[in-house]
Amino acid sequence: MSKKAPAELNPRTTSYEFLGPPGALLITLGVPFATYALYFGCSEQTGGCPPAIVPANISLALSDPAWWKGLWDTQATLMYLGWYAFCIAAWAILPGDLVTGTTLRTGEKKQYKINAFSTFLLALGLTAGTVYRYGPQSFTFLHDKFVGFITAAILMSVVQGVACYAASFRPGALLALGGNSGNPIYDFYIGRELNPFSYGTFDLKTFNELRPGLILWVLIDVSMVCEQATRRGGFSQVTDSMWLTLIFQTIYVADGLYFEPGIFTQMDITTDGFGFMLSVGDLAWVPFVYCLQARFLVFSPIVMGPLFAAAVVAVNMTGYYIFRTANAEKNDFRNGKNPKNLEFMTTESGSKLLTSGWWGRSRHPNYFGDLLMSLAWSFPTAFGTPITYFYVLYFLVLLIHRQRRDDEMCEKKYGKDWKKYMKLVPYRIIPYVY
Ligand code: NDP
Repeated sequence: MSKKAPAELNPRTTSYEFLGPPGALLITLGVPFATYALYFGCSEQTGGCPPAIVPANISLALSDPAWWKGLWDTQATLMYLGWYAFCIAAWAILPGDLVTGTTLRTGEKKQYKINAFSTFLLALGLTAGTVYRYGPQSFTFLHDKFVGFITAAILMSVVQGVACYAASFRPGALLALGGNSGNPIYDFYIGRELNPFSYGTFDLKTFNELRPGLILWVLIDVSMVCEQATRRGGFSQVTDSMWLTLIFQTIYVADGLYFEPGIFTQMDITTDGFGFMLSVGDLAWVPFVYCLQARFLVFSPIVMGPLFAAAVVAVNMTGYYIFRTANAEKNDFRNGKNPKNLEFMTTESGSKLLTSGWWGRSRHPNYFGDLLMSLAWSFPTAFGTPITYFYVLYFLVLLIHRQRRDDEMCEKKYGKDWKKYMKLVPYRIIPYVY
């Protein structure tokens, strides 16, 4: 435990991100709204993607208590709670190495149990067994009860956001440097405490970041495949576009889970507190918005054909190659290894920065790979609607914002050395473009 006085350890936050409290309020209300809107704005139930919008119908629906009641599904809520409990049980029961995180401001280091990937394999194994034994129609409930599951996940994120905010006022809590502004709307959103509900090797923030949302995203995709198989008469009739969407997104999630220790140096874990921003992002936004393409393909099946499919596979594999090699170069380097003998500069802080390889081409080459993949996930839905490209646009905005946040933090960390690095590597994300 730190010997520092509370005010010294947890200084007041004096500058805001996300345009301060008004921005925080807008996103707090906007993310749940947008999660529902993307469902109702692109769904069979409402008649298309987008449905023909008749304002009178919208106001009729909103003034009808039955429509509001339709957002709630007791069975889906119980299933969601069961899923969350399954993730906790898998974390507790499955074996896993212990990995030490970065040093906290108190001087302490947290230890984490690494078994997100085996949790994923267990969940996939149980799902595959169910589908093999009882057929695709046994796993369409995530598709059928989609709205109910959205509501359950949003409620869970609200409960966690409120509980974490309330718990952060107990004596001795280590707050996030950016989450102690004193404005409740802002602090609730951005996350006041750095690691709330952290007991032994369990840490709610890292647990949520990888398990209940990311794995659920893949299970929802599987459910969409099963729904298409049920409708079209078996898995052999599932379209190439649906298979590619499932495969691309599964590879992405599997990568994140397999390289679980990689998150311990990310800013969400080292710097951000855990508040509504992360709880709703991890639990509701990721699984229920990122599956939009697969959900769309259920009611608009598309056959791509070998040429189009091969081109899209090429885009995805290029993106994945850049994403993986860039992340591996940095992770190796941060772990004291440099197998490719990449050039680097040593900063005054003692820390080193790569100046060749992917990190010599742009300051966030991994984001570039990620963006290419986001395009490849939308191409299988063809070009009939812009809504299935929402993810590309949203991700572009998120990554540009994240790049700016990270550059600002690196400038604080490395001072004039960062300016030197920026001169050596002028491109922010896409080499020679941006
Ligand atoms: P990054 O992996 O991009 O890491 C940024 C950090 O790397 C910097 O803070 C700095 O930290 C270090 N660094 C910067 N330049 C260099 C250099 N030249 N040499 C060595 N180290 C350097 O951070 P993110 O957490 O933003 O992203 C991680 C991954 O997650 C990315 O692949 C991203 O695309 C993905 N992502 C996906 C999201 C999704 O919703 N799908 C959302 C957000 C991210 P330090 O010097 O302290 O080590």
